[in-house]
Amino acid sequence: MHELTIARSLIDLASEYAEENQARAIDHIFVRLGVLSGMLRPLHFCFTSAARGTICEGAKLDIEEVAVTVECSHCGQVGSPVNQYSLRCPNCFSNTVKIVTGNEMQLVSIKVIENSDDHRPLS
Ligand SMILES: [Zn+2]
Repeated sequence: MHELTIARSLIDLASEYAEENQARAIDHIFVRLGVLSGMLRPLHFCFTSAARGTICEGAKLDIEEVAVTVECSHCGQVGSPVNQYSLRCPNCFSNTVKIVTGNEMQLVSIKVIENSDDHRPLS
């Protein structure tokens, strides 16, 4: 997936959420992102420009990086691979591994700024 597509879909989701909650603006968007996606920096960059003119403008994008873990098809070991560029089993060095984490892109939560324009007199 292209980072701009991801940035836009995050903004769409956040805008929908803001509308449902009658929020004035978006404060924070929290995302979990696997390191294998390679999206960490491009997404930050795209988000800022894609958010311009939307309710997400000025919102902070918080990205939690998710490390890579693999499950070995050979010995069953689950753990961090030898390194990020050589996804081999840490136990038997087989390269028949399944990626368990490291590829995800998950919207965790959205923090909105509530609409404070509806103050009503108490009397
Ligand atoms: Zn193994």
